[in-house]
Amino acid sequence: MATIFSKIIAGEIPCYKIAENEEFFAFLDINPVVKGHTLVVPKKEIDYLFDLEDELLGRMIIFSKKVAKTIEAVISCNRVGVAVIGLEVPHAHIHLIPITQESDMDFKKKKLTLTQEEFIQIAEAIRGHYK
Ligand code: 5GP
Repeated sequence: MATIFSKIIAGEIPCYKIAENEEFFAFLDINPVVKGHTLVVPKKEIDYLFDLEDELLGRMIIFSKKVAKTIEAVISCNRVGVAVIGLEVPHAHIHLIPITQESDMDFKKKKLTLTQEEFIQIAEAIRGHYK
């Protein structure tokens, strides 16, 4: 059965898209720890990030770098933190999180509740800078 992320990539489930190329897809996390929290996923459905073959993993990091640089340009932060958890959705993904302090990476904190308008505004701002 397709993962929820494959359904998002296929457009069967809506998302706030940030960027995509032939191999990867980036979109806002629906339960963000901070504004701009983004997920990068490979279109190929593989559960565990470190099961990706080397070349694909390398290209995923480079794609994530481009997305992270774009997030940095748009969201006020010190840098973009990177996390890999993968306990909830069995489809490899990298969390990109614009942070100003260590606690911004705390996944145990209550997640932000953003309105649809806020999600749209954040996604449009980041997408607008993505080259
Ligand atoms: P993990 O698997 O890394 O523990 O967490 C999965 C992440 O995917 C969580 O941060 C969760 O909020 C996010 N997520 C789960 N389902 C959806 C969804 O349907 N849409 C979006 N945009 N994010 C999701």
